[in-house]
Amino acid sequence: MALVCPAMCKMLYFLDFDSTMAFLMKDLLNKLIRAEPTLEKGELAAGEVLADFFAESGTDIDCRLDKWDGCRANVTAHARSSGDRPGLLFGAHLDVVPAGRAQWQSPPFEPTEQNGRIYGRGSTDMKAGLVAAAAAMVEVVGSGAELKGDIILAATAGEETDSCGVKRFVSENGGDLGPLAGMILPEPTDFEITVAHRGMLWLKVTTAGKTAHGSMPHLGISAIGKMNTLLNRLEGFRPAHQVHPLLGKCSMSINEIHGGKAPNVVPDECSITVDIRTVPSQSHQSIIDEFDAIFAELKAKDPQFQAAVEIIRSVDALMTDPDDPFVKKVRDVTGINKTIAVSFTSDGPFFGKLNAPVMIFGPGKPQTCHKPDEYIEIKDLERAKQFYKDIIVKFLT
Ligand SMILES: [Zn+2]
Repeated sequence: MALVCPAMCKMLYFLDFDSTMAFLMKDLLNKLIRAEPTLEKGELAAGEVLADFFAESGTDIDCRLDKWDGCRANVTAHARSSGDRPGLLFGAHLDVVPAGRAQWQSPPFEPTEQNGRIYGRGSTDMKAGLVAAAAAMVEVVGSGAELKGDIILAATAGEETDSCGVKRFVSENGGDLGPLAGMILPEPTDFEITVAHRGMLWLKVTTAGKTAHGSMPHLGISAIGKMNTLLNRLEGFRPAHQVHPLLGKCSMSINEIHGGKAPNVVPDECSITVDIRTVPSQSHQSIIDEFDAIFAELKAKDPQFQAAVEIIRSVDALMTDPDDPFVKKVRDVTGINKTIAVSFTSDGPFFGKLNAPVMIFGPGKPQTCHKPDEYIEIKDLERAKQFYKDIIVKFLT
């Protein structure tokens, strides 16, 4: 196995190559956790850490850091090939959710190694998968293997909030990547090959009224009262859909409500947010149309009823055919025959706009994500790197 940067090798001359990459993976993981790429701080520091890893790898992998808004960043690492075969893309995200209010046993952004695990925010979701994919890429390219198809690693911003990074990556690079055999999101699936998840549609619905003094409510229109009418109408409502054999039903929950400004003012605005999880047959626009139809129905009964709906976030469902040739080949290489659906959503549907099949497959237990004391088993880093290397070698050499 060939290796990485001469400077690093000098520093680590006492270790063999496998141990060196194991050390470098842990080091990269730790630095990415310390970079604290929350929405508040942005992904730039984490992007720089990843770009440095490729720059110091001693390979000719072309790595670009795309910065915007002062602290946001995407990283694209591209190993070019003879172009005889379609390429492979690893689609990761750089950002993490905040540490939360609950007490951690160790500081969330100070990685701590204990009992074969590394604890820290983002260790599982999804620094481990990102590190393993980057290491696999460096090892294959560093070995001098002749690539017949390109390897691309896109590490993007904002997956946990608005998917701004993947949208930017696809719109800026979509045309230049060439044909792709498939895409792997190294998100934590505990090494289950994931081909499907429901979509996500977050809506803000606002009712309008008219302010008046609280002592003379007959002069105003209470937006909260109108919201009450709407909430009663929405009780038991589900957007129209057909139950999906793998993903089940569409679900809907109303999770926030805001209204009113003062105890003595009739409120002129009240809003709710609605979290709808969709199945592949549903168009998100048709759901908006259903809400508009409900508003029209309520207005027909009460001319003072006024409501509007806006989209806060929209991610399509993911559904890749488990028998797609790309998925089948990955199942062969990894020896993992079963494919599954997961409850969380991903940037997969946005990467899917690059017209290649998408799967989610990576290290780490999904149930540790977004929680205090998030951790990754160190042995899973190595296992993931080996899987990704095997996949790259099978498809591209
Ligand atoms: Zn994630």
